Amino acid sequence: MKPDFSKGLIPAIVTDFNTKEVLMVAYMNEESYEKTLSTNETWFYSRSRDELWHKGATSGNTQKVVSLTLDCDKDTVVIEVIPNGPACHTGEYSCFFHPVKESKIDYDPAIIEQVMLEVETRKTKQVENSYTNYLFDKGVDKIGKKVIEEAGEVVIAAKNNDKEELTNEVSDLLYHTFVMMANQGVTLDDVKRELTKRFSKKGNNKGERAEIEDW
Ligand code: AMP
Ligand code: ZN
Ligand code: ZN
Ligand code: ZN
Repeated sequence: MKPDFSKGLIPAIVTDFNTKEVLMVAYMNEESYEKTLSTNETWFYSRSRDELWHKGATSGNTQKVVSLTLDCDKDTVVIEVIPNGPACHTGEYSCFFHPVKESKIDYDPAIIEQVMLEVETRKTKQVENSYTNYLFDKGVDKIGKKVIEEAGEVVIAAKNNDKEELTNEVSDLLYHTFVMMANQGVTLDDVKRELTKRFSKKGNNKGERAEIEDW
């Protein structure tokens, strides 16, 4: 599969493999596209400087290529990268930092990862009055009691038909489960890998859930 360079340059949308954020948009000619494939780092065509451009050649902020995907008519490419520093020449992480219309969504879609990261950090970092530090100090028995207690509260909340209470108790249960995982050295990636395996084993790419008895 090759891009269509018949109309000249094609836009390249560069995203961060880890955060999924859009980092920058630049243009590619065939040569920069081929260089990107052969070196596994991003190369573009600078319209202002009229030359081939290896991203990070002067700044050191190269981008390691994880994947390349063409659009329907193959005249635009999305490149997932692991950035070796800011993508923007201003030093910003992403070129897209001028808000025009801001999101009103009141939650962080990556909050589960954020909470787990904080929990895992507490394993080695002592913070004054930290409940997480206290749980790690007490160990698996105490953490286990809390997991069971919160699981019970989840059921009670469900039986109470109280969505707000259920939301709170599920949050408690998730947090204590994360502490248990971190205590035992199990990561979110381990669980994601297992869930992905189970999901694909069912052979359904229609987004249907796995059979109940498998869980
Ligand atoms: P770099 O490729 O990061 O070493 O930067 C070299 C030059 O490329 C900079 O001085 C800018 O002129 C330009 N440049 C770097 N990153 C970007 C970007 N994200 N968007 C537009 N121009 C860039
Ligand atoms: Zn297109
Ligand atoms: Zn920029
Ligand atoms: Zn609770």
